[in-house]
Amino acid sequence: MTEPFKIAGIEIRPGERKCIELPAAQLYTQTPMNIQVRVIRGTKPGPCIFVTAAIHGDEINGVEIIRRLLELPAVRHIHGTLITVPVVNVYGFISLSRYLPDRRDLNRSFPGSPKGSLASRLAHILMNEIVTKCDCGIDLHTGAVHRPNLPQVRVNLNAEGSENLGKAFNVPVVLDSRLRDGSLREAASSLGIPVLVYEGGEALRFNELAARMGVRGIRRVMESLGMLHEPHTPKRKSILPVIAHSSIWTRAPKSGIVHPLKKLGDRVKEGEIMGLIVDPFGGPGGTPVKTEGDGIVIGRNNLPLVNEGDALFHIARFEKIEIVESQLEEFMSLKERPQAHD
Ligand SMILES: [Zn+2]
Repeated sequence: MTEPFKIAGIEIRPGERKCIELPAAQLYTQTPMNIQVRVIRGTKPGPCIFVTAAIHGDEINGVEIIRRLLELPAVRHIHGTLITVPVVNVYGFISLSRYLPDRRDLNRSFPGSPKGSLASRLAHILMNEIVTKCDCGIDLHTGAVHRPNLPQVRVNLNAEGSENLGKAFNVPVVLDSRLRDGSLREAASSLGIPVLVYEGGEALRFNELAARMGVRGIRRVMESLGMLHEPHTPKRKSILPVIAHSSIWTRAPKSGIVHPLKKLGDRVKEGEIMGLIVDPFGGPGGTPVKTEGDGIVIGRNNLPLVNEGDALFHIARFEKIEIVESQLEEFMSLKERPQAHD
């Protein structure tokens, strides 16, 4: 008989679905704060996977992804265990902020410690109660405020198991990104637990394409791990994700008002004009914003007011760019189709 599976001291038996409250530091008004964890444990054994969202409190699209995921009939009877944490940074979530009240970035505070800062303590709770009990995980993020990202997956290809996880998620763009200090992904993979980061949409907004691709991606990862009873993919077309090993930012050559000429998912060529920066008080022409390399636009600034040096376009660079380009067309059209199979 295996050991009882517990989170915060509460046992979850095979076949049970539970909502568990992880106690976190209370507010200074003495209001208690909990991090809600939703767990589904199947009757049959299988892998244990976590899905986290809103580690950055204003990145709310992932919260919607988990909400939709938990409503899927397919996850009612799974092999193994699905642990979801829809809102990790509960403090930032209620104040519409990326950060914690102490202005720290939770995703730079892992693995944390029980005696450290608020951020460090939260990171420690998440590592101890969730991450270390899992075989792998998916961490949901979005771009910053006014900076939507094309749905994309970020993995560290040096970490074992990450590449398969990234490809199983099945979005056209997989970015091989080196680990950042103090991220959940870094802390988990240093323990041999691969984590993929899914990025789609922007902070404080829901993005339908990113939400649907997120739910679909998690479902596909669960399928690839043998957690779902009836795989739904064989008849459906899969895309072939292509890995980008580097990316570049195109920055504003001067301050002013930017009129972008490229959108998310567009293919661009070195030296191409991506937009024009004009003077808000009038004046002739505009200053062109040019790329410094070929690639696909995976992130874009949507705020027209820019200062010199501001990042305007994030461009992923691929060796097989034609494949990415053709698959993106198909991918972007998924938004228009009925939702039933996603
Ligand atoms: Zn984030």
